[in-house]
Amino acid sequence: MMAALSAARYLKASGHDRSVLILERNRVLGKKLAITGKGRANVTNARSVGEFVQAFSPSGRFLYPAFDSFFSDDLVTLFAEAGLQLKTERGGRVFPVTDKAQDVVQALGLLLVRNGVDVRYSARVRSMDSGSGDWKIGLESGGFVRCLAVVVATGGKSYPGTGSTGDGYELLERVGHHPSRLLPGLVSLHCPEKWLRELAGTSLEGVAVEAWVGSQLLARRQGEVMITDRGIGGPAVLSLSLAVTPALAESKAVLLRMDLRPEKTLDQELHDIETCGNADEILVHVSRFLPKRMVLELMRVWGIEGKGRMPLPKKTLTAVAGSIKGVELKCTGADPLASAIITQGGVALREVDPRSMGSRLVPGLFIAGELLDLQAVTGGYNLQAAFSTGFLAGRCAAEYVAKSANDSRL
Ligand SMILES: Cc1cc2nc3c(=O)[nH]c(=O)nc-3n(C[C@H](O)[C@H](O)[C@H](O)COP(=O)(O)OP(=O)(O)OC[C@H]3O[C@@H](n4cnc5c(N)ncnc54)[C@H](O)[C@@H]3O)c2cc1C
Repeated sequence: MMAALSAARYLKASGHDRSVLILERNRVLGKKLAITGKGRANVTNARSVGEFVQAFSPSGRFLYPAFDSFFSDDLVTLFAEAGLQLKTERGGRVFPVTDKAQDVVQALGLLLVRNGVDVRYSARVRSMDSGSGDWKIGLESGGFVRCLAVVVATGGKSYPGTGSTGDGYELLERVGHHPSRLLPGLVSLHCPEKWLRELAGTSLEGVAVEAWVGSQLLARRQGEVMITDRGIGGPAVLSLSLAVTPALAESKAVLLRMDLRPEKTLDQELHDIETCGNADEILVHVSRFLPKRMVLELMRVWGIEGKGRMPLPKKTLTAVAGSIKGVELKCTGADPLASAIITQGGVALREVDPRSMGSRLVPGLFIAGELLDLQAVTGGYNLQAAFSTGFLAGRCAAEYVAKSANDSRL
């Protein structure tokens, strides 16, 4: 949508009488966009370009030109044109003031209409052939469309019910691109520990969670952790999963370590626990920063349940403090790609020119959005990257078309 909008605007502004067409396999536009942010659409983040690039680490630098051409402030201005205001929440997350993702889809739809973009629905693209200076796009329905430039922005391979079934990877592979291995990104992790099951649905705020393979720290994230019926989830874990699923795919044994009180050092925690000295006081102390339900379960795990005011041995107190600073959980799996928030992997960045989103292999082809091998933590970064790369791809595709038209007049 963003690519088509930016292409149409460029062509109009530069006086070129060329049309822009979206081929959408669904009967509506933006089916995935409409379910983002739990139906509220976390469309971008208020943080700086540098922090965005960091969020896409290690490949974020690729996005500098796209963010340069269209960033979060441009998104705010664009939506305001369509009468949609945005607001900023905790962690810089930006949402529509109406809290409705559908309003974001409608705003984009309105801008498409105003800018004269045509949309053909139920038009699943099945083939793309570049001939002598133009493209022949084959549809599942049997027909085909001819065009001078094409932007492929078919999304990743997660939530296939929204239309993103990974067609783009195959289409691009057939014209010479090399998508890397696809893995689930931003997913909950599976842990076999039985005591966790009792706590499904419990939410822990401000917890730090680390992923380890042997003595190698893969990643550390801090924020909300949600205990699920299969392990752990929530924003901090989803972001951590970007480092975990590649390790699991290589059959590495991953250990998760949760620091339940990251603002204290181990020595400080040990001091607090030793000051408590018995189970009753530990219960009161730990309940100050953890939900009661979780504390009672941990008391069982620590073997101090029902020990009342009896003084506990130093060894037990040390173990309790150590556990608060590092609950260890095995990670035996992750939710599948079909239910992942994003697809990790995709079209190799070396095959795409970051200044235009143009294919380095095939002229007249531009690639945008989740199809690219780029992935960020939660917080609105992924949608902004889709908007920014879409905007740049659309504008550069339009420039390419305008140039082709000028050249053919010479
Ligand atoms: C549940 C959920 C919540 C999310 N929440 C957020 C959030 O709050 N913030 C955030 O930043 N990110 C969020 N994301 C991630 C974000 O939605 C994606 O990164 C983003 O939508 C990618 O945009 P895209 O344009 O590349 O692809 P998509 O949004 O997937 O759009 C691709 C479009 O191409 C169409 N298409 C596919 N194949 C074909 C074909 N062969 N022919 C014709 N049309 C085709 C599809 O039908 C679809 O309409 C969320 C994802 C999920 C699943």
